[in-house]
Amino acid sequence: MKKRILLLAGGQSGEHEVSLMSARSVLAALPRDQFDVTPVVISKQGRWLPPTGTQQALESGEAPTGGDLVLHRVASAEGYDAVFPLLHGPMGEDGTIQGLLTLAGIPFVGSGVLGSAVSMDKVMTKQVLASAGVPQVEWRLALRREWRDQPALVEGRAAELGFPLFVKPANLGSSVGISKVSRTQDLAPALDLAFSLDRRVILEAMTSHKPREVEVGILGNDAPVASPVGELSFEAEFYDYETKYTEGRAEMHIPARLPREVAEQVRETALKAFRALDCAGLARVDFFYVEETGELYLNEVNTMPGFTTTSMYPKLFEAAGVSYSELVTRLVSLALEER
Ligand code: ATP
Ligand code: MG
Ligand code: MG
Ligand code: MG
Repeated sequence: MKKRILLLAGGQSGEHEVSLMSARSVLAALPRDQFDVTPVVISKQGRWLPPTGTQQALESGEAPTGGDLVLHRVASAEGYDAVFPLLHGPMGEDGTIQGLLTLAGIPFVGSGVLGSAVSMDKVMTKQVLASAGVPQVEWRLALRREWRDQPALVEGRAAELGFPLFVKPANLGSSVGISKVSRTQDLAPALDLAFSLDRRVILEAMTSHKPREVEVGILGNDAPVASPVGELSFEAEFYDYETKYTEGRAEMHIPARLPREVAEQVRETALKAFRALDCAGLARVDFFYVEETGELYLNEVNTMPGFTTTSMYPKLFEAAGVSYSELVTRLVSLALEER
């Protein structure tokens, strides 16, 4: 019997377009002799689009308005064997959809409510991983209300970290809303931008030198495995949205050009983080390696990483001998597996 899969894409976050790109690849790759796949695109307004609207959105990369409220669709989604929530960022990668699917009793690909919510929030991730002894850069939390009512307090926290520093919405991805701040006068605009996207903002000390950016894929539930380590190189100041999504701006190196023991440490630390955060199915764990000093910091954990055929996560597993279509098939099996 073919498994019926509901593939969710788009969504309400700043990563809507990225999700549509990933979904096109997954849709093409799920083997049709094993799966009956229904794609549903969620518009930026949070409406679930009917088949014509979904088709249009997947083709054009942009969702029209209209569609149903989420709950109507989940009620009618009972006939699905599993859901593949290929959504990035808030309202998709952060435990909200996962909660809805848990309530509806439908198995789904990826982490549950807890793992998704904690991993999406950069502050919560740092706190949990600190208690697991995972090395991370210095950081401070700031709330929108503090920035509005007591800006000097927030500026003081930034001063403790020193320049340059990074200002990030606590719950987002694809570098949306992230600034590298090198001068006092650039701090306020960076905070305004980040607070326009999130109530919680994280200030992060920059690594002592421009870091090497290395990433590793994790696959599995309670017996997860790590992929080889990959590396991204680029000319830009940091790995911003444009560098991530403009063809030819960044180069992927698999395996990463790292000493063997560093690569091993990356893989072990990533597995430790995956377990500490109660992740499931998949995650891409990102690190900074400071070549000059040998320091290694865990940057973040993405529970639904970019998933086009040329994205880092599938490429890492391809290097381990798992093809793209084997990978998506494996992810659906993991969703159906008893833990
Ligand atoms: P993703 O698309 O991987 O989900 P994201 O939006 O969650 O990314 P981060 O990975 O936290 O954002 O940061 C984006 C980029 O900013 C990093 O890849 C790196 O280039 C740069 N960066 C972020 N924090 C630091 C830091 N503390 N020190 C040096 N560079 C940093
Ligand atoms: Mg991220
Ligand atoms: Mg992300
Ligand atoms: Mg990242």
